[in-house]
Amino acid sequence: MVIRTPGAVQGLRRANRATAKLLRDLSRMAQPGVTTRALNEYAMDYITRLGADPVFATEENFPGCINTSVNDAVVHGVPNDTVLKDGDILSIDAGMVLDGYCGDSTVTVAVGNVTEEHRRLIATTREAMLAGIRAALPGNRVGDIGYAIQTYAESRGYGVVKEFIGHGLGRKMHEKPDVPSVGRRGGGPVLEDGLVITIEPILVEHSARVRVDPADGWTVRTVDGGWGAQWEHTIVVRPRGAHVLSEP
Ligand code: MG
Ligand code: MG
Repeated sequence: MVIRTPGAVQGLRRANRATAKLLRDLSRMAQPGVTTRALNEYAMDYITRLGADPVFATEENFPGCINTSVNDAVVHGVPNDTVLKDGDILSIDAGMVLDGYCGDSTVTVAVGNVTEEHRRLIATTREAMLAGIRAALPGNRVGDIGYAIQTYAESRGYGVVKEFIGHGLGRKMHEKPDVPSVGRRGGGPVLEDGLVITIEPILVEHSARVRVDPADGWTVRTVDGGWGAQWEHTIVVRPRGAHVLSEP
């Protein structure tokens, strides 16, 4: 894993701040009647106007520059003609490469009037991410982050999807170390001051078993149809607590 120089952290901060601003815009746009394709078109225009690279589309061959995952879709939802409805929940994962550095962040938004139980799923997932961020201290280990997320989520009755994990971030979107959203205390590599990683838990209502939807070969859905939410921040590990880079 790579400990970033101050210049690299500054570059990562710029890319992640731009990503966070894009997500803020998309969150406001995500209203009943809007298609996920329209959100993707806005994101593509935003990224290209910055002179940045829509890295999900260009390097990962994903059919879109953002993931739009609705309800029982938990990740890699393909932007298409799906019309958002009142009561849906929508996870938007956005990424870009700006001036050579990667931005990567995810939010889950409530579309219109969402039930209390689904609002609680969204809020608990965000809190689980924040529990993981609080555990990201120098001298702790990667497993402490997963442990914090998993215990927070499971104590509130949610499952944690294990197949999709956080990662180091730099000039490439996926670098070492892997940052699972489950783990055991004291397991895995030691965290150091200056390490830049993503923390990106996916929580689901019931079983955490997931599968790829054969209809498009990308969208990952829960097997039992339960709904899921995801939040993701890019952070830099610091002695007095991690700094979140993906904030507007
Ligand atoms: Mg992401
Ligand atoms: Mg990520």
